[in-house]
Amino acid sequence: MPARESTQYDVVIVGAGPAGLAAAIRLKSLDPEISVVVVEKGSTVGAHILSGAVIDPIGLDRLTPEWRSDSECPLKTQVAIDQFYYLTETRAAPLPNWAMPRLMSNHGNFIGSLGAVARWLGARAEALGVEIYPGFAATELLYGDEGEVIGIATGDMGLDREGRPKPGFTRGMELLGKYVLLAEGARGSLSKQAVARYRLDSASEPQKYGIGLKELWQVSEDHFSPGLVRHTFGWPLSKGVSGGSFLYHYGDRLVSLGFVAHLNYENPTLSPFDEFQRFKTHPMIRGTFAGGKRIAYGARVIASGGWQSAPKLVFPGGALIGCSAGLVNFARIKGSHNAILSGMLAAEKVRDALAAGRANDELHAYENSWRGSDIGRDLYKVRNVKPLWSRFGLLLGVGLGGFDMWTNELFKASIFGTLKHGKPDSDTLKPISEVVPIVYPKPDSVLTFDKPSSVYLSNTNHEEDQPIHLRLHDPGVPIRDNLPRFGEPARLYCPAGVYEIVYGNEASRADPRFVINAQNCVHCKTCDIKDPAKNIEWVPPEGGGGPNYPDM
Ligand SMILES: Cc1cc2nc3c(=O)[nH]c(=O)nc-3n(C[C@H](O)[C@H](O)[C@H](O)COP(=O)(O)OP(=O)(O)OC[C@H]3O[C@@H](n4cnc5c(N)ncnc54)[C@H](O)[C@@H]3O)c2cc1C
Ligand code: SF4
Repeated sequence: MPARESTQYDVVIVGAGPAGLAAAIRLKSLDPEISVVVVEKGSTVGAHILSGAVIDPIGLDRLTPEWRSDSECPLKTQVAIDQFYYLTETRAAPLPNWAMPRLMSNHGNFIGSLGAVARWLGARAEALGVEIYPGFAATELLYGDEGEVIGIATGDMGLDREGRPKPGFTRGMELLGKYVLLAEGARGSLSKQAVARYRLDSASEPQKYGIGLKELWQVSEDHFSPGLVRHTFGWPLSKGVSGGSFLYHYGDRLVSLGFVAHLNYENPTLSPFDEFQRFKTHPMIRGTFAGGKRIAYGARVIASGGWQSAPKLVFPGGALIGCSAGLVNFARIKGSHNAILSGMLAAEKVRDALAAGRANDELHAYENSWRGSDIGRDLYKVRNVKPLWSRFGLLLGVGLGGFDMWTNELFKASIFGTLKHGKPDSDTLKPISEVVPIVYPKPDSVLTFDKPSSVYLSNTNHEEDQPIHLRLHDPGVPIRDNLPRFGEPARLYCPAGVYEIVYGNEASRADPRFVINAQNCVHCKTCDIKDPAKNIEWVPPEGGGGPNYPDM
């Protein structure tokens, strides 16, 4: 391979989400002379961002205090009605708002598309002189002689499936920085490398995740209630599976409908996609979509380990920010505010370091300050909600979680201390022989859909003749181990139908083959987390590939 060209910056940021863009904006606002570059694997800023989103404005208020009066800012709908329900198959029991801890209230929050917010932040960053390169995936961390991070490399473009250069091949670039901020969102691929290399998680609990699936609908006027925010838990998830739904009304008759299943589920025949489809048939939910049109679909994991799963956030030459660091308040299903706040906090510490003439060392001041900041306070209060839910199941777990949030809020203490999460999500599946297989109804293509027609609405596109970005450490594992033991759960947990078992003889189920339809991948990262053999590694494909979410 020819040598890569390299360019030197003060700060290199990987990922143009709220965390990366907040860091870039804050750096430039503090010192316009600091050179800042942001690389983004999506074809445009926001193309890979999928979120609810009900946004706590604390981050935007600090980053760009005038955002409410900016006509270009896409956040226009304020929360008007805030509802919680527990669902059984046929009933919906409301939870009174007075019983909910104050921190769970959504009043004062705004509803909108986080992808659109990122595009708006991107324009602001560029106006301040930040260089943003969409369509470029960061594929490698670059190291100096002392093992410190000195930059990143973007991926080569134009390799064929075997990794050989095709006509039009372009070598990746080296972007060198005095500091590198990793803002890749949940389960970032470079962040994973940094965590492993510097053992950043040696003192923390395993990170936990949920898979979030989302559809965007335009509903009829009769079913639209601007500012309505509704969360549910319970049906259709069976005993032992935790998760829930969100439904947000905003904009021009838009309804953002989502479903989160925690990835610590045990039954390998569970399909989060089909649970989501079934959820829509609930009597309280289905009516909203009568006469409406589904306009987008996608999926993305959400970090849920919170306070006790956050790794050390700094390493020589850089730091983790936003969901790369797992800074989500899972009880509130909110992380965008902490993404912005952590980007700002890291930027302030980088500015101080640069002003002192430092480079490529550890940003101890960032690590030492986030737990005592608004980010830490937000996560600390809800630290036991997920472990309680996992240990005690739905009703008792939710009840105890609510009690714990109240005691944290009122007395700044918990009778539980800080509970552990236990196993990583890859280790929770039971063998298929020990579970009752879940059978899902067929979609009706009006309210419920199959995976292919859903993936179509994510506008996912990858160059087909390129190295497969879903790497198997051992190609024999899916058929030799996972199929007999777990029924190969990748077929079911992947929300895009990327993984299939194809039989040489369908009738006798002889000659099974594991097929990877990598071009359908929506970059949710579930397979990198849930594979029981930890055998699948998600690496960035050619920049620009993946979903092209309109406003998710
Ligand atoms: C289903 C769901 C619902 C949610 N609902 C809410 C909600 O209602 N309110 C709320 O506040 N939060 C919500 N969240 C959480 C919120 O979306 C995240 O906290 C937030 O997006 C984190 O911002 P971030 O900048 O850290 O990462 P992201 O928003 O994920 O942005 C990361 C960016 O980095 C890019 N990237 C990643 N790797 C690379 C690479 N190697 N090279 C180049 N680019 C790269 C990605 O393409 C992406 O654009 C939800 C999340 C999910 C999944
Ligand atoms: S292949 Fe993996 S990352 Fe891609 S959509 Fe499927 S589960 Fe998600």
